[in-house]
Amino acid sequence: MQAAVTGSLVDRSTNPNVPIATEEIVQASLDAWRAGAAIVHLHAREEDGTPTQDVERFRPVVDALRAAGCEAILNLSTGSAGGRVKGVPKRWQCLELEPELASFDCGSLNFGEWLFENPLPFLRDMARAFRERGVKPEIESFDVGHVQTAIRLRDEGLLDDPLHFQFVLGVRGGAPGTVEAAMFMRSLIPSDATWSICGIGRAQLPMNMLCLMQGGHLRTGLEDNAYYHRGCYASSSAELVERLVRIAGEVGRPVATPDETRAILGLVP
Ligand code: ZN
Repeated sequence: MQAAVTGSLVDRSTNPNVPIATEEIVQASLDAWRAGAAIVHLHAREEDGTPTQDVERFRPVVDALRAAGCEAILNLSTGSAGGRVKGVPKRWQCLELEPELASFDCGSLNFGEWLFENPLPFLRDMARAFRERGVKPEIESFDVGHVQTAIRLRDEGLLDDPLHFQFVLGVRGGAPGTVEAAMFMRSLIPSDATWSICGIGRAQLPMNMLCLMQGGHLRTGLEDNAYYHRGCYASSSAELVERLVRIAGEVGRPVATPDETRAILGLVP
């Protein structure tokens, strides 16, 4: 299970409990790990809370988590910090911190009013950077074509099997958070690939349930969804993690530890 604790598109107006300061992001990550998250997905923010891809803003978060003995797999964002950073190496500078995983947004889409730009030449350069650093890409697929693009890059020899997909469903401009969309995307991935769904907003819990039923993996957290119940803010990502730990245990798919997750994803220690 993965916890996405802060993101780049949410702030205190989305949910008053979103961690913004470095210490808050570190604490939210530790809490989510202790609650049962094997992977923590991280974005960085400037001191005033503005999302950034500056490696020097990722560094204190990563250093603090490692110093605190956090065993969770760290998954750093190579996104555009909410459209602020265009397709340049700065997007993936955080790979120098050598996380085990990092997001790899495998195609472009209309995201709100702006274009999330991930053209093929940029993706090829980014794939090479992942390989140089020994970081496994988490292939974020917002739509069907993004899955196809990942397979194309695999066929070009730039991404390695087994691929790991994160279907990001429910963003307007991308595929919806429905059973039909999710199952069609899963039908396209290689048989040895692993997959998870990041359901946005109200799609989060239903997509979690679908993953439990269909052999996918879990992701939750305030980056994706502000609410515990309709109209009721989640108090933390850890609270959302705790709910999934309970449900997964009840349906016979107990959540994996960080080391079990490393084995599932084929991460080299
Ligand atoms: Zn993210």
